[in-house]
Amino acid sequence: MKFSRILDWIIITLGLLSTVLVTVFVFNKNKMEDTLRFQYETEEVLARIQARMQSYEGTLVQLRAFLKNSGDLNRDKIQKYIRDTEIFERFPGLQGIGYTMMLHQHELESHTRLMQKELPDYHVFPKGTRDIYSSIIVLEPEDRRNKKAIGFDMFSEKFRKKAMEEARDQDKAIMTGMVVLVQEDEAENLPGFNLYLPHYKKDHLLNSIENRRKALLGFVYSPFRAHDLFKAILRDEKILDVEIYADNMNPKNLYYDHYKSDEQLSPTATNELLINGRKLIVKTSALPEFPRASSLINNLLVFVSGTFITLLIYSIYLFTRKQMHIARVVAEEKEKLLEKEKEHVASRDDFLSIASHELKTPLTSLKLQAQVMMRSISRNDPAALSKEKVSHLVKQIDNQTTRLTRLVDDMLDISRIRTGRLKIVRDTVNLNEVILDVIDRLKPQFIKTIGETPDHDLFPDIVGSWDRFRLEQVLTNLFTNAIRYGNGNPIKIRTELEGRCVRIYVTDEGIGIAKENIVKIFERFERAGMSASEVSGLGLGLFITAQIVKAHGGEIRVESELGKGSTFIVELPLDA
Ligand code: ADP
Repeated sequence: MKFSRILDWIIITLGLLSTVLVTVFVFNKNKMEDTLRFQYETEEVLARIQARMQSYEGTLVQLRAFLKNSGDLNRDKIQKYIRDTEIFERFPGLQGIGYTMMLHQHELESHTRLMQKELPDYHVFPKGTRDIYSSIIVLEPEDRRNKKAIGFDMFSEKFRKKAMEEARDQDKAIMTGMVVLVQEDEAENLPGFNLYLPHYKKDHLLNSIENRRKALLGFVYSPFRAHDLFKAILRDEKILDVEIYADNMNPKNLYYDHYKSDEQLSPTATNELLINGRKLIVKTSALPEFPRASSLINNLLVFVSGTFITLLIYSIYLFTRKQMHIARVVAEEKEKLLEKEKEHVASRDDFLSIASHELKTPLTSLKLQAQVMMRSISRNDPAALSKEKVSHLVKQIDNQTTRLTRLVDDMLDISRIRTGRLKIVRDTVNLNEVILDVIDRLKPQFIKTIGETPDHDLFPDIVGSWDRFRLEQVLTNLFTNAIRYGNGNPIKIRTELEGRCVRIYVTDEGIGIAKENIVKIFERFERAGMSASEVSGLGLGLFITAQIVKAHGGEIRVESELGKGSTFIVELPLDA
């Protein structure tokens, strides 16, 4: 695999892996935060319950202190005092505050009579003969319900009695277990409890259970309807469900359920509260409204952001990589161009020196011949001015000018090609005629170098739509090259027709062309690895040839082996 591919995978894998790790980390952290928050909210609920119960106990303690110092037990005074505490307005949920008086059996009658002066219907109930009674003589506020409780002997009921005895013996505020208050209508039967604080005779020693029992006068007490009480305490609770049980979580012991729901809530916690000698079990559960940091949407957000950042980093990386690649390619292109430019300059310099050399050779020889003639004329030497001598000189002059003309024509063609002015003027041309014409024109050179005209095998009657002059130029170039680079060995010319396309083969058995030069020779100013002195020529011929063939919609290529010879193949479509 390519290094960049591996890097791609590393970046994506690392990005996604760290996204998953961060998501898991954030999820766990949020979960912990949720747990802590839940614990905090639960503690808050417990503290609220405890604080409220302490307030109620405090009120009872104050009432007892008031009674201790007021001398006698006067109903009016007690009622007035209770009303003045404003406890019902300040801490709603309390059913009442009252006083229950301890009576021995022998005191019952006189007590009842005394009470009936104020409350004609007063009697201690339930009826029956018992050693000790405890009768509620005051219960504020004096509403319909509480009035029902006046005269009730709480000592006659075992739960209340147990709590009262504990309170009496320990000199403490003690709560009953779950009871149904006497003031409840029977149909409702709602659970509640009472809170008792013992009231002893003034100035009695209270240092032992015995002494406390002896000194007991009665109890200041508060009845509570559990539902009203806890509802008032938890009025503002919106995110937790709270269930409160007496003693244990038996459904029978349920005092209060803040948010009755069948839903499976989570998380939950169960705590015990010890309040005034009794255990309350408080179960808290997070409601759906509980704000959760570990919510799905939060975690999804972390994951999506992580993935997005990974993709962003990856795109930046890709972009940078691409930019770097482009910069590299541009630099390489520049380098190549520069190299090419250098080569061009070098071959142009080469060309200029070859061109001047090529131009100078015929010019020098022309000048020499002119000087020879001038000398002969001035010497008035009839032998030197004989018809043969003069015609030989003129022939030489003609050859040199032809050579010069060809050189200049080549250079003009190059300039035409460069400026796109090389025009093809098509005509109906018989290929065999042109080939034979060119061979005929070059006959002296063929004879001079290889001793014969080239062997030719021509497909009969090939007629195409070509520029005759340019076609001659192509053939002249190829034949001249075969002569020049053919080492004096025989030359073969062959044509073949395939469909509407003719192929011309020019084969020599000369020096051949090295593989690395095969493409180059069709370029401008290229002379396959030869210096100017080796063989004369400007290195323009094949370039011009190839351009002419191309302008005819054809192709030129060469098959060659160094030292063995070359075959140039020109492919021309018959039609334009
Ligand atoms: P010139 O012959 O004037 O140098 P050309 O463009 O005609 O220019 O040829 C380019 C180069 O191709 C020549 O310099 C020569 O090296 C090589 N070449 C052309 N024809 C042949 C051939 N028949 N055999 C070997 N080399 C050839």
